[in-house]
Amino acid sequence: MFDVPKIAPMPAARVLIDGPSELVFDYAIPDGLPVQPGCRVRVPLRNKNATGTVLAVASDDATADLGFALRPLHSLTDPEPLITPKLLELAHWIANYYGASIESVIRVLVPEAVRTEDNSAKTRKAVVLESPPDEETLAQLAKRAPKQHTIITLLTHAPEHKLPLTDLGTAAGTSVKSLEKKGLVKLIDQEVRRDPEADGTDEILPTTDLKLSDEQQAALTAILASSEVGTTAPGRPPAEPENGPRISESASPTPAKGRTPPLPTSHAAGTPIKSGLATAAQRPILLHGVTGSGKTEVYLQAARKVLESGRTVLVLVPEISLTPQTVRRFRARFADIQDQVAVLHSNLSQGERFDEWHRIRKGKARIVIGARSAVFAPLPDLGLILVDEEHENSYKQDQIPRYHGRDVAVLRGHLEGATVVLGTATPSLESWQNTIDGKYQLLRLTQRADGQSLPLIRVIDMRLESKKQKSKDTFLSERLRSAITDRLEKNEQTILFLNRRGFARSLQCPACGHVCQCPHCALALTYHRTDDRLICHICGHQAVVPRKCPECRDPAIVLQGFGTQKVEDVFRKVFPAARIARIDADALRKKNALRDLLNAFRARKIDVLIGTQMIAKGLHFPNVTLVGILNADIGLHVPDFRAGERVFQLLTQVAGRAGRGSLEGEVIVQTFTPHSPSIQFARHHDFDGFAEQELEMRRQFYFPPFTRCAVLTSRSTHERRAEFTLETLHRRLKEDLPPGIELGEPLPSPLVKAHGQFRFQLMLRGPKARTLTKHVQQVLAKTSLPEDVTVVFDMDALSF
Ligand code: ADP
Ligand code: ZN
Repeated sequence: MFDVPKIAPMPAARVLIDGPSELVFDYAIPDGLPVQPGCRVRVPLRNKNATGTVLAVASDDATADLGFALRPLHSLTDPEPLITPKLLELAHWIANYYGASIESVIRVLVPEAVRTEDNSAKTRKAVVLESPPDEETLAQLAKRAPKQHTIITLLTHAPEHKLPLTDLGTAAGTSVKSLEKKGLVKLIDQEVRRDPEADGTDEILPTTDLKLSDEQQAALTAILASSEVGTTAPGRPPAEPENGPRISESASPTPAKGRTPPLPTSHAAGTPIKSGLATAAQRPILLHGVTGSGKTEVYLQAARKVLESGRTVLVLVPEISLTPQTVRRFRARFADIQDQVAVLHSNLSQGERFDEWHRIRKGKARIVIGARSAVFAPLPDLGLILVDEEHENSYKQDQIPRYHGRDVAVLRGHLEGATVVLGTATPSLESWQNTIDGKYQLLRLTQRADGQSLPLIRVIDMRLESKKQKSKDTFLSERLRSAITDRLEKNEQTILFLNRRGFARSLQCPACGHVCQCPHCALALTYHRTDDRLICHICGHQAVVPRKCPECRDPAIVLQGFGTQKVEDVFRKVFPAARIARIDADALRKKNALRDLLNAFRARKIDVLIGTQMIAKGLHFPNVTLVGILNADIGLHVPDFRAGERVFQLLTQVAGRAGRGSLEGEVIVQTFTPHSPSIQFARHHDFDGFAEQELEMRRQFYFPPFTRCAVLTSRSTHERRAEFTLETLHRRLKEDLPPGIELGEPLPSPLVKAHGQFRFQLMLRGPKARTLTKHVQQVLAKTSLPEDVTVVFDMDALSF
């Protein structure tokens, strides 16, 4: 006979241990300890101590028939849960959707600085007046202890009768002690904020609300109507922010690994959300406003109203370092509540991050501006999420977990009942399609706020230029040259964009502009030097490299592209007197280098600024009247179905940089394919026309937004092993492939070798993201990978 020992029932917690191994264990909760999901705890682990995050809590009877006693956890690191139930739910959703571990998601939710206990708040000694002394005592002090008298006088007039000890003079310590003995003052520990902006050099002048145009007012009204529903209608049917996130697919907690008995949880994160019909007021809002239409002004006024209603505001920008103007405008408008504004960026020290994070969580900072990961800012009572430049690729994280900040924002807004506004001059086609399907609400600003018309865009046919100049790789047209000369004479400024080359190189004929394309996918074929072939990166179609242009028979067909250095050299020769500066990746790596350069440009110490598309983002220079795009084609002929969309976005954003002051702007676009739709629609400022035609192509060739698309990549220093691994995975993925999934061929990546590693990749497409992720994860789980091969799965991939 074997007796199951009777265990006294007690509540238990399922804990995810910090660290890369994804350990999950159950612990008993000691009597009276208020452990909730989302709490951070100290636990025993084998014969050591560890810290972890509580994923779920089970009630008393759950442990009753386990048959053994759970080890109790030690203590809570913080008295309250650091992760709210909503954010925990969001974390589970992200883990499931992107095929990432829950630990990797919790890691971005609770940043390293907050997990590490020795970053805890910095304090300093302060002196408080306990009871104001009567006249007699005062008079005595004045006579016998003038120092103590001074301290009392200072405290009497100090705000809250409180002063830092250090403000009372160097030798105040003993005097304070004596006063404390007399019961007149008290010495306390006061928390101080490590203010990341404390040494900020730029002075910010407060601004007030502008009078809105009719369009702006209509947009503001719609946003506020939507956010009011969020506060007054509990239990409203959830909207379905269908883009990346398909929230009707429920998030269930990751199955526990390690020595974990089955544990029925009373508070499992990831309650299934049923999709419901969304009414107008609850849907995410796409604010499509042409560049300079005053979107930011609308954000500012909406944010103010939401703050006044007692809720908090989250503002996401594509990249803090490139959006100084947006950040400045928020700080200036909320100058009256400066201490409630938190700016999260990657340059914060651990201590600063710790302080900012807790200020946000405690509701002291009620407006948070930050890049991608700020989408997890622990704001309580979130009322409004603004995603500026929602189309930007930098919202997608390129490390695990590979989430899309915009899509996570949409889901978070949904979970928390907050209004989500996606703002842009060039909506992503995913968001645009959502407005067509009625899932997002569309608001538009069609006019520039300053009444200026959009700048004139001239398209220069470089095929004619290369004939005129008898050169294969000319990149300065006569038109652009004379336009720059003209600006130099008038003392106006010029920005020149050099489209980043990217990795893929396509073949283009300089005589007729023909680009070698895949007959099946309508995308540019990529040249592979190793075997001198053209390959389609979607379907694997291969072609020999033509020695003459297949279209016009010209033998001059060449690989596209030239380097930034070469461009700068040529420009210096052509314009010897001009002050020319170049922004490149190196400039961005150095702290403050970018800011200094942009400040010099703003101060008109630079005439011509050369840069890649990174400087197209949100910059505003009133004296820039000419913008040139040197090689509009480069981005167009990459093996990426979003190529056309990117070029359209780039041209539109870039054009928005010209003529933003009182001077009129001009844009010159140099291209070998002047009739390309992206270029023509951008030239006519016609987003709708572009979207219609581009969506037709996407539908026809089965690309997003009409399907979900993921990329599986293998990497290794051993080329054969990387290739073999991906081939094996491909074979296994093919076995019992769920219906509706289209599996691409394993191929060398467009960037075949990077950081010493060879890369191979395959694309998967299907109607449901979760089905793709699940299938890949199941195959990965039963495939043992060679040690020196890394496999990366990227759901909703943006780069190929
Ligand atoms: P966007 O964010 O759409 O690019 P901005 O908000 O930067 O546009 O506005 C462009 C310019 O127009 C800014 O200088 C801004 O101060 C100004 N502006 C915006 N709204 C108004 C308004 N209602 N009246 C006057 N000027 C405005
Ligand atoms: Zn193809």
